[in-house]
Amino acid sequence: MSLLMLLAMLGFPIGATGQTHTVALTFDDLPLADAGGADMSPAERVATAQAVNRAILAGLRRHHAPAIAFVNEKKVIAEGAQKENREILREWLVAGNELGNHTFSHADLSKISADEFEKEIVDGEASIKPLMAEAGKPLRYLRFPFNHTGETAEKHLAVSDFLKRHQYEVATCTIDNSDWVFARAYGVMLTKGDSDSMRRLRAAYLVYTEKEIDYYSQLHQQIFGREVPQVMLLHANRLNADTIDELLKIFERLKYKFVTLSQAQSDPAYRMPDTFVTAEGWMWGYRWARELNIKVDGRQEPQVPAWITQAQDLP
Ligand SMILES: [Zn+2]
Repeated sequence: MSLLMLLAMLGFPIGATGQTHTVALTFDDLPLADAGGADMSPAERVATAQAVNRAILAGLRRHHAPAIAFVNEKKVIAEGAQKENREILREWLVAGNELGNHTFSHADLSKISADEFEKEIVDGEASIKPLMAEAGKPLRYLRFPFNHTGETAEKHLAVSDFLKRHQYEVATCTIDNSDWVFARAYGVMLTKGDSDSMRRLRAAYLVYTEKEIDYYSQLHQQIFGREVPQVMLLHANRLNADTIDELLKIFERLKYKFVTLSQAQSDPAYRMPDTFVTAEGWMWGYRWARELNIKVDGRQEPQVPAWITQAQDLP
């Protein structure tokens, strides 16, 4: 089948222009993503998780942006803080957002068998399934940790089949801004009490984020000849808590409308066959380009500034 036939079959308005931009916001590694800096006591960790999540939720509310949060159950039950952590997750639901499965222990499918990974998915449901039921919502999305979707065809297919049998959909993501790299450096600066560097980092983070949004928008134009709804990958960390308004303002300035993950993934692009096997955690634009045999040059993607990557470790 020719590319144009495939695109037409998938319902693409070929060559159409002028569509609105839309983006679904997703936050990973709840209740609190790992970041650099000093170790926290269990009490500090709970307090930080509460503060981070509440700041993100307040920002989402101010900008009328829905979001989905992907949870690691192991972190929920760690250090006897399951009651407090489940309360944090409930706050996402009360605010009208969704929860998704990010496996029990943030398992890397490239390092374990399909069977072991499937157990990780089931064990990952312990808190989120009853919480979603309480909110009257089905638990529908799995986000693969590291976006590792199976480095062999067998594994990829086995887990895909498992997800279908269990009524799961894959939570894709199409824009990443390496927030975890910035967040690690930010944690180190916070530990040192270096507020000047923290301010500089926040500014650099926002500049880089805007570059990545532009980059991935152009990537989709190159692949599809039109706008495809974006899915933004972020993490539940202090950096995003401290910049949530500015992050959302970037999207608003670029005329993006905030939508849910299911609205974003209702676009025909997301119904493309998912046969691509890779050991890399690529954004979906790159995967679609491979599926459609379109050459794209990932080397054009903006790089995280060197001073940020170098600031990730405590000296
Ligand atoms: Zn993750």
